Amino acid sequence: MRENFLIVADKAKDYLLKETKVNQITEKIYQHVCQLDPDQKEFQQAVYTFLLSMDKIVDELPEVTYHKVIERMVEPERVIIFRVPWIDDEGQLQINRGFRVQQSSALGPYKGGLRLHPSVNLSIMKFLAFEQVFKNSLTGLPMGGGKGGSDFNPKGKSDAEVMRFCQSFMSELFRHIGPDTDVPAGDIGVGAREVGFLFGQYKRLTNSFTGVLTGKGQSFGGSLIRPEATGYGLVYISNEILKGEGKTLEGKTCLVSGSGNVAQYTVEKLNSFGAKVVTLSDSSGMIYDEEGITAEKLEYVKQLKNVKRGRIREYSEKYKGATYIPRSGNGANPLWDIKADYAFPCATQNEINLEDANNLVKNGIKLIGEGANMPCVAEAEKLFLEKGVLLAPAKAANAGGVAVSGLEMSQNSMRLKWTREEVDSKLQGIMKGIYDNISAAADKYSEHNNFVDGANIAGFLKVADAMIAQGYV
Ligand code: NDP
Repeated sequence: MRENFLIVADKAKDYLLKETKVNQITEKIYQHVCQLDPDQKEFQQAVYTFLLSMDKIVDELPEVTYHKVIERMVEPERVIIFRVPWIDDEGQLQINRGFRVQQSSALGPYKGGLRLHPSVNLSIMKFLAFEQVFKNSLTGLPMGGGKGGSDFNPKGKSDAEVMRFCQSFMSELFRHIGPDTDVPAGDIGVGAREVGFLFGQYKRLTNSFTGVLTGKGQSFGGSLIRPEATGYGLVYISNEILKGEGKTLEGKTCLVSGSGNVAQYTVEKLNSFGAKVVTLSDSSGMIYDEEGITAEKLEYVKQLKNVKRGRIREYSEKYKGATYIPRSGNGANPLWDIKADYAFPCATQNEINLEDANNLVKNGIKLIGEGANMPCVAEAEKLFLEKGVLLAPAKAANAGGVAVSGLEMSQNSMRLKWTREEVDSKLQGIMKGIYDNISAAADKYSEHNNFVDGANIAGFLKVADAMIAQGYV
């Protein structure tokens, strides 16, 4: 699977180098990044698309300050790589590689999730940490950016194996994190179960009960609405963008990919806005349910994915009106070739390639809301912008999760617990604030509704100002 995405990332890079006029300053920075780490394709892609937005402002920024800051931003403050030894249920010794990329502490303690997936490597960790810095900046909360994880595959592992892995992972990570230093959370393959195991081990090792992780269980410091926050936030900001164009979600057909945390709560909130979601997927394939994934069907998906840890194929065995299409190779994904009004990629990076983007445009898609991080290859993103498709970029669109993580940190520090309504209303306020911010930055520095530039530029300026004030560190 990983190779498929790398091929896509590689193609995007060649395309960009060939097709896109780049500013000399940003090109120099990009070439330097590529020379330093030639194998880090995902990181290069994230930096490149960010630099395309910087092209819009770089000539107006004072060279001695902001240009130097951009050079420093693409270099993580610290990268920790460690071995994670653990023992499986058969008593066999196993080994995995653990990572924590502490990208930027300009705005607050490093903050960002942990991913457990066999594809995890330093390039993916660095791209995610880089994106996280600007995302956290956009929330307006005092959080720096980081990301971590391991190439451990939780799929098919028993609870006891996952627990032993998490305990071993934390036995090294604990010395690098803390409530005022670095506060990890969940991501792909890390949900409530894993956060609980990680938190328990941190507590044993440090003899302290602090808000060192977010996404914790409700009984030990977790915030209400944290599990829902990324999906809900994605729908809130998409709704704001649509409102700006006089459009609504009501009665509209939506495509959602993935079937994990972000996808589930995206479907839930889309349903509550009166939209109809017709697809879900996992790494093995997709389901198409023309009648819509109702609240009852979504409850089945939550049980299937979160409790039974089954495959999305089983949905079509239970609901006979739905069709299952297994995933095949590198080409177009049939999920993105279904006629719909809006699309919400919520699985993983580079899941929409150029062919998929062409299919979406051909079928008249009006909005792409990025639930996953960097779900569109660079060429796809460019096509959507050219064709006037509203594009809610991940940095802004999926910031709801980390925003409520920030609220969880506040509640932990104050030893308080806010109600569901309080947290949900703060989340809505934050997503509306992000929309206002990125749309004002788009209008000022780029073009109306270019939210990609808007998010990159608004996120960047705040971090840059903090770095300059702190002595360019
Ligand atoms: P989950 O592990 O809960 O779900 C991930 C879903 O995506 C699963 O359906 C999984 O299928 C599918 N998937 C994962 N990797 C691949 C792959 N290589 N190819 C195809 N399908 C894949 O993760 P989340 O829902 O938490 O995360 C989804 C995306 O959202 C990620 O990009 C993440 O970085 C981003 N995100 C998550 C946040 C959060 O709060 N959780 C916050 C902000 C962004 P399978 O079951 O087969 O593995």
